[in-house]
Amino acid sequence: MSADNDGDRDRDSAGSGTGRRDTDVVISGAGPTGLVLALDLARRGVRTLLLERADGLFPGSRGKGLQPRSLEVLDDLGVLPGVLAAGGPYPRMLAWEGTERRGEWDMVPRSEPTEQVPYANTLLIPQSRTQELLYERLTALGGGVRFGTALTGLRQDHAGVAVELSTGETVRAAYLVGADGGRSTVRRALGVGMTGETVDPRPMLVADVRIVPGTVADRDHWHVWRAPDGGVALCPLPGDDTLFQLAATFEDRTAEVDTTPAGVRALLAARTPLDGDRITDVPWASDYRARAALADRFREGRVFLAGDAAHVHSPAGGQGLNTGVQDAYNLGWKLAQVLLHGAPAALLDSYEAERRPVAADVLGLSTRLHRATADGEATQRGKDVQQLDLGYRDSALAVDTRPETSEDALRAGDRAPDGRHGEGRLFDLFRGPHFTLLTAGDAEPPAALPEQVRTARLTAPGGPYGTGVLLIRPDGYVGWAGDRADTSLDAYLTAVGLAPAGRPA
Ligand SMILES: Cc1cc2nc3c(=O)[nH]c(=O)nc-3n(C[C@H](O)[C@H](O)[C@H](O)COP(=O)(O)OP(=O)(O)OC[C@H]3O[C@@H](n4cnc5c(N)ncnc54)[C@H](O)[C@@H]3O)c2cc1C
Repeated sequence: MSADNDGDRDRDSAGSGTGRRDTDVVISGAGPTGLVLALDLARRGVRTLLLERADGLFPGSRGKGLQPRSLEVLDDLGVLPGVLAAGGPYPRMLAWEGTERRGEWDMVPRSEPTEQVPYANTLLIPQSRTQELLYERLTALGGGVRFGTALTGLRQDHAGVAVELSTGETVRAAYLVGADGGRSTVRRALGVGMTGETVDPRPMLVADVRIVPGTVADRDHWHVWRAPDGGVALCPLPGDDTLFQLAATFEDRTAEVDTTPAGVRALLAARTPLDGDRITDVPWASDYRARAALADRFREGRVFLAGDAAHVHSPAGGQGLNTGVQDAYNLGWKLAQVLLHGAPAALLDSYEAERRPVAADVLGLSTRLHRATADGEATQRGKDVQQLDLGYRDSALAVDTRPETSEDALRAGDRAPDGRHGEGRLFDLFRGPHFTLLTAGDAEPPAALPEQVRTARLTAPGGPYGTGVLLIRPDGYVGWAGDRADTSLDAYLTAVGLAPAGRPA
C-alpha cells in the first residue's frame, strides 16, 4: 500500500480530526536503528520525534562488532572519529583447558585498507558506546530523545499517523517508524507477523563484567573455555581496563540462567580456573535464546519497520545492529525526499523492496554461522559479514543504461566505493546529505541540476567507476549509470525528488 505524496506539510493528519501535524516523523525506539535514523533526518531538516520507553540509553555492550560498511555510514554521519577513538581491533581468540593454552585463531577476517575500502576490519566497540556517540551527534544537530515515553498505539489513514504515547498524549505525524526492537509494539499494533525459527534451543547468557586487573591472563585475547555443561568466553572491551563481555552457553536446554552478579560469579568459578569473586561489578546482564525471524512486511501504509523490529538474528557474525543501521540509512533520505523535496511517495516503496531481501540474506548468514560454530565447524568468519558487497541491483532504483557492462563491473545498485579524488577522497565528496553526480571521460553533466546534487569530474580514471555519468545516492549506492546524461537520467531524477532545475516535478 502506498501513501500519498507528502509535499504539503500542513495537511490534516490521520485519525486525529482536524489538527495540524506535530512533527514529520515519529520514531519509536532509540536503539542504534532509531538513533541513526533520527540523526540522518536531523541533518536533512526533517522534524522528528524520537521516543524511548527506557529512562536512558541502553547500557550494555551487546552488539559490539561494527562492520566495515557501518563504519562508512558513520563516516558519512560525522560519528566515525569518535567511534574509532572509542573502539579497537577484534582480539584473537585463545582457547584454554583449565590453565593450559590450547590454541589461538582469528575469528574475524583481517585485511589492509585499500583505496576502495578504507575501513577494512570489524571494529570492537560496546553497543552502549556506539549509542552514546550517535546520541551526542544527534543532540549536536539539535535533535534529541524523549526518554521515559513509550509508543502505546497508533492509527493511520491516507493523510497521516496518530501515535499514542504512554503519557496519554497523541502525536500527529506524516510517518511512523517502528525501531522498537524484536518485541516491537509498532509491529504488533500493525498485526504484521514474524516468520522464523529457533536457531539454537540452548539458553545463553551475556553480561558485562569488571574483573580485578591481573585476574585474566591478558587483555589481548578473547579467552574461551569449554566445560561439559557449556562454554564461557571473556572478550576484553575497549575503553575500560577492567571490563569484559562474558558470554556463556548452557547445554541443558531447560537450565534457568542466573543473571544476578552472584550467578555470574558462580558461573565463572565453575567453568574456568578464575576466582568468581574477582568480578567486582556486573553492570549489565541478560539471557536469551538465538532466534531468526523476518517480518512479513516492512511497511504498512505510513508506518515502517526497521532494525530488530523487522528482523531478529543470532548474534553469530555480528549482523543485527549493522543491518539495522543500514535499514535506517536506506530509509532516511527517502523520507526526506518525499517530505521536503516533492518526490513521489512511490519512492518509499523501495525501502521494503531493497531492505527485506538483504535482511533475509543476512538472517540466513547468521543462522548458518551460529549452527556451524555450535557444531565446532566454523571458527572463522568470512568477508561476507562485512556487508560491503550488499547492494540493490534488482531495485527499481537501480538504473543502468550502459549496454556493455560485465557482471563484475561496478553497476547501478552497487555500493559506491571510495577512491582518490583530487587531493582528497571520493568519500569526502559523498559525505553529507546530498546526491553526487560523477562524470568521467567525455560525458558531461546535465545542464541544470537542483542544489541537492553535487557534481564532480572523476580525476583518477581507470578505477571501478569507468567512464560516463553516475548518480550516487545519498546512502552511497550507485543509483543511475549511463554513457551520457539523457532522458532516462531526467526520469530518475524526478523519481527521487530531483526534478531538473527549472522544471516542476
Ligand atoms: C549477545 C548479543 C550479541 C550481539 N552482537 C552483535 C554484534 O556484534 N553486531 C551486531 O550487529 N549485532 C549484534 N547483536 C544484535 C544487536 O544488539 C541488535 O540487533 C540491535 O540492538 C538492534 O538495534 P535496534 O535499534 O533495531 O533495536 P534495539 O537495540 O532493541 O532498540 C530498540 C529500542 O526501542 C525501545 N522500545 C521498545 N519498545 C518501545 C516502545 N513501545 N516505545 C518506545 N521505545 C520502545 C527499547 O527500549 C530499545 O531502546 C547482538 C545481540 C546479542 C543478544
